[in-house]
Amino acid sequence: MNRPAAPRLITGIAELREAVRAARRQGKRIGLVPTMGALHAGHVSLVAASCRECQFTIVTIFVNPLQFAPHEDFNKYPRTLEADLKMLAGEPVDVVFAPDRAEDIVNSSQATFVEVRGAAEPLEGKSRPSHFRGVATIVLKLFNLAEPDVAYFGEKDFQQAAVIQQMVRDLNLDIEIRVMPIVRESDGLAMSSRNRYLDPEARKQALSLNRSLARAAELVAAGERHADKIVAAMRAVFATSPDVQLDYLVLVDPETFAPVTRIERPTLAAVAAKVGSTRLIDNRMLEPG
Ligand code: AMP
Repeated sequence: MNRPAAPRLITGIAELREAVRAARRQGKRIGLVPTMGALHAGHVSLVAASCRECQFTIVTIFVNPLQFAPHEDFNKYPRTLEADLKMLAGEPVDVVFAPDRAEDIVNSSQATFVEVRGAAEPLEGKSRPSHFRGVATIVLKLFNLAEPDVAYFGEKDFQQAAVIQQMVRDLNLDIEIRVMPIVRESDGLAMSSRNRYLDPEARKQALSLNRSLARAAELVAAGERHADKIVAAMRAVFATSPDVQLDYLVLVDPETFAPVTRIERPTLAAVAAKVGSTRLIDNRMLEPG
């Protein structure tokens, strides 16, 4: 099959719809990878999966204002379109949709929002109350614009993927959701667009997130089943990172996000913390033998 040498950069909605219609007419399976840009190898792994599994891949780059609270980093969030296009050069992406007028996607006259209950309420939902409403609303818009057969998300944002899956079920969207593993730096730090905010000392202390998760996995592998003991050992890992301020560190059921007391089945260890002024999240599935 003919694959494009370089993606077509589309900045307007009408042009995107036309490209989608043409791909549909050709019977192509459409894969969508929604991102906020500042792309790294984690994003590229989702793009590569789409290019493998679909005949037409659309990557969207849009810093979604609705998912940031007023005190968060919307204004300083990295916007690096040129570098992003270079990051994608190794993959046969068909379209990069990077709207040049944010108001085409979100504007003050918008009065309709998607609110997912249940999975969206604890953890990130509690720490960032309007976050998932902003995510779900914009992801649904992107689904309506790109009409994908498949959409790709990362386990890095485990709860976000669960919220999207809930929305897809509840609203009868005919879209397959694929959730891909976390891509990490060689020292274990989960890749994130926000890692570029970290100075060298903060970057070092940020390793505590993954180390605490690795410690949990180690304990479970050694037969520990008590959640409180595992959580205590995870917390101890942060003792040597004075600039890390934990937001939450929990062991939860990966479907309901309810806390667990014993690890009898696959359990999600999830952690969120501020490293200096940068908020990072990470997670790992704990699998009792
Ligand atoms: P973002 O640009 O941060 O909104 O992320 C776009 C998509 O990339 C989301 O589905 C994320 O879960 C996914 N993603 C972000 N970081 C990683 C990573 N380190 N590994 C795999 N997927 C990731």
